[in-house]
Amino acid sequence: MNAHKKVALVTGANKGIGRAAAEQLAALGMTVLVGARDSRRGEQAAEELRGAGGDAHALTLDVTNPATVAESAKQIDERFGRLDILINNAGITGSGQVSPDQAHDQIPSAVEVDMVRAVFETNVFGVIAVTNSMLPLLRRSSAARIVNVSSHAASMTLLSDPDGPFAGLLPSAAYTPSKSALSALTVQYANELRKDGILVNAVAPGYVDTDSNNHTGFLTPAQGAAVLVRLATVADDGPTAGFFGEDGPLPW
Ligand code: NAP
Repeated sequence: MNAHKKVALVTGANKGIGRAAAEQLAALGMTVLVGARDSRRGEQAAEELRGAGGDAHALTLDVTNPATVAESAKQIDERFGRLDILINNAGITGSGQVSPDQAHDQIPSAVEVDMVRAVFETNVFGVIAVTNSMLPLLRRSSAARIVNVSSHAASMTLLSDPDGPFAGLLPSAAYTPSKSALSALTVQYANELRKDGILVNAVAPGYVDTDSNNHTGFLTPAQGAAVLVRLATVADDGPTAGFFGEDGPLPW
């Protein structure tokens, strides 16, 4: 393989924002590993990216299944020997295709704790599992970047303002706190890895037209993915421990 060609892994890359990020990274000339929990869907997405001229390979990776996480790291090691970019994009709302801010089953006083557990399992614990399995490979990169896909809804500053732009959203005890936890985790990883030159940031893609909100979002997946790619490709003197939307830094 070409030692100068960057190797990027995007989890949940078979559709939506992750898929668009994979397309954009491939268009930049990178080798893109399309993480997907369903191997058929992952293979199909990778095939379509190759059809468009990209260097894409499917990896069967369910972030809640440690065996698939370990096997993915093993395959990347054997095939590429390192990883340059990890985008932790896979996520669930917990309410199917109902946008979390419209999901009555996430209202704190009524939420089922099992649903909160399931959401945290994917959106938080899955990120720890994948990141820790990939870190030995990321440490072999000369410019490793980790991007955690959070949400504007993760911002406790924005959400706690009764007159702020998100005042109308239904309260959520599952999705929204899971993304706030992901933001907190981002800072902790960034602080640990700063000395190693691994830059770790959280991003909010905006309200994007995908299955996760039954296509009520107003941004295209490509527009939403742009900030993922921007933080995945920042220079060595770029930010770490930050939270960014397309228009710039966001408050935690
Ligand atoms: P999406 O179209 O539903 O895509 C989600 C992706 O995550 C799918 O590929 C899905 O795979 C995958 N996934 C779910 N659970 C997984 C698991 N356990 N292991 C591996 N992959 C898993 O949703 P999206 O809108 O593109 O969301 C992508 C990310 O952006 C999520 O983290 C989401 O929270 C975040 N986000 C989205 C919006 C928005 O407006 N859309 C706003 C803020 C943040 P399957 O196809 O197998 O289900």
